[in-house]
Amino acid sequence: MARQLEAINQSMLISLARSQKAFVEARLEVERLSETIALSKDLKYISPQLCNESMLRILEIQQKVERISLISPYGVIYCSSDPKAIGIYVGDREYFSEAFASDKVVWSNFILSRITGKVITQSAKAIRSGDHVDFVLAVALNTSYLHQMVLGQFDLPLTYAMLMDADGKILSGGPLSESKSPLSDVTAKRLAELGTGLIMPGTYGAGSEVFGVTTLTGTSDRIAFAVSTEKIQDAATKEMIKQLVLVGLVAVGIVSIMLFLLEWLVLRGLRQMVHVAERVAAGDWTSRVKQKLLLSDLALVGRSVNMMLDSLEESVHSDALTGLANRRALDKFLQDSLSRLKRHGAGFTVVMIDIDEFKLFNDHYGHATGDDVLQLIGPTIRKFARRADEIAARYGGEEFTLILAETDSEKLEQHLEGLRKAIEEIGIPHLYSARQVCTVSIGYATAYPGDSPLMAISRADGCMYLAKRKGRNRVEGVPVEQEDLEIFANFMTVPA
Ligand code: GH3
Ligand code: MG
Ligand code: MG
Repeated sequence: MARQLEAINQSMLISLARSQKAFVEARLEVERLSETIALSKDLKYISPQLCNESMLRILEIQQKVERISLISPYGVIYCSSDPKAIGIYVGDREYFSEAFASDKVVWSNFILSRITGKVITQSAKAIRSGDHVDFVLAVALNTSYLHQMVLGQFDLPLTYAMLMDADGKILSGGPLSESKSPLSDVTAKRLAELGTGLIMPGTYGAGSEVFGVTTLTGTSDRIAFAVSTEKIQDAATKEMIKQLVLVGLVAVGIVSIMLFLLEWLVLRGLRQMVHVAERVAAGDWTSRVKQKLLLSDLALVGRSVNMMLDSLEESVHSDALTGLANRRALDKFLQDSLSRLKRHGAGFTVVMIDIDEFKLFNDHYGHATGDDVLQLIGPTIRKFARRADEIAARYGGEEFTLILAETDSEKLEQHLEGLRKAIEEIGIPHLYSARQVCTVSIGYATAYPGDSPLMAISRADGCMYLAKRKGRNRVEGVPVEQEDLEIFANFMTVPA
């Protein structure tokens, strides 16, 4: 509270000084106006009619001014911007006699106007020809303008502001808020004595109010003000709430921006990675982190995830020894091929390849050399499945599988004969076999739309064993029933 009073005190003193300055400036403007009017030469012989009109015209552009009049040397108003003023005697006024004795503009205290009954402060300036006074020019400062102007100098909410004379008698003004009582006599008296300064709450009849007073320069009159500390506290509380709300809004704004950034920089990327992980878990090994990640660290994580998936995909789907597709990849490929066959009639052939007398090879040359043979034969087999819808796989042990898009038995025969020959021509010595080199027996069977994977494999396997029985190092296949396939293809194209 003491701190608050100190702040009020400070603010009041500043406002009082500002009011004082504003008052002096207003008076200076009136004085300049008086000097200017006094300089005009034709005033001496001006007719009352023209004079009235001139005064009125000047008044219209001077909002600070209440009235402009010319007073005859005998004290009677000769002409005026206010017609009611004409003919009234003001020769007994102090400002009138002071103006007679001075070359300058003189000022009255705040007085009650004989014309309007309102409180005014009047400037007066003698207009002379040589020693002779032609007129006294009287310009009254507009008190309500002054009042408003002074109120405008205060940052604090005023309860009231009023003009008072040197004895504390109220001249004008009053409560700005109906609920507040006007100055008590004690307070008014004390303020008048003070001249310029403040009265703090609880002293000289002041309740919860701080009073201020300043004596207007060039007069003995004062302007007195009251500020309610309760009102200030209310205003302070409201201000505090406003600040709190503002801080709250700013905080919400910052949090929103952060959430937005979090979403854009981090969460989007993380969600995408989770999505990829889910797709991969569901068997889609082609799924990768594709979103452009803005945060460099996260982008790095995204790239690492993709690289990890690339190598995982590789190891999950390929055979470590030969680099061909492994059994898992083969099973999936076969399943997909069978579905395509069923749906679109895309025929294909399953080929089984088995190394001849490989047990004997292992027994004599050792398993490590056996592995070398598998590694040598693998790439050759791969060369015979080049299309995107074909695959070369290691079925297991020394057995390999091809899935080929070809269904024509003649072409198949030719193709696979080529494979058989290619392996034979590698010329891997196998002195314990009848042919002296490593060879393979090949069986093939074209898949039928009703086949299960096992059925398709088994038929090809059967052919491969037939090749074994027939002496090895040869190709055997189920003669393809082209017609069957054609019938099925036709069936597929019949509209449902
Ligand atoms: P056939 O001509 O009738 O196919 O005779 P085979 O000896 O090849 O047939 P069998 O099935 O009796 O023997 C297969 C052999 O293949 C047994 C094993 O020694 C060998 N083998 C299977 N997998 C591997 C492997 O990964 N590495 C090596 N080095 N040998 C393998
Ligand atoms: Mg075998
Ligand atoms: Mg074998």
